[in-house]
Amino acid sequence: MDDAKVEASKPATPSQGDSKTEDSLSALAALQSDVQPVGHDYVEEVRNDEGKVIRFHCKLCECSFNDPNAKEMHLKGRRHRLQYKKKVNPELQVEVKPSIRARKIQEEKMRKQMQKEEYWRRREEEERWRMEMRYG
Ligand SMILES: [Zn+2]
Repeated sequence: MDDAKVEASKPATPSQGDSKTEDSLSALAALQSDVQPVGHDYVEEVRNDEGKVIRFHCKLCECSFNDPNAKEMHLKGRRHRLQYKKKVNPELQVEVKPSIRARKIQEEKMRKQMQKEEYWRRREEEERWRMEMRYG
């Protein structure tokens, strides 16, 4: 009769959850929050024998996802929108917003450029100074 007790005292392991994945997902969601999802009609719901949706399949991009969030993300995604533009509605605006990564690379480039300029400016100054020392 103690079975129930044993069952109850099972250590409750709080699901650690992959917070890293969650963070990047929400960051991505925030990034795309201003985008209206398109092409719902082209996403098929794949059901199992019990009629439960187990998978989504995007006919435009020929790819599938197993959860609704991934589907939503996909509908807002650039790649999907480009396919939609190409195959369904050429009028669709697909923003050419650079990704965060691209922006970071650009920033890094700018920073390096600034450093380079600073370096040359300093060298020039030094040079001038040396000249003045020599002829002054
Ligand atoms: Zn798609």
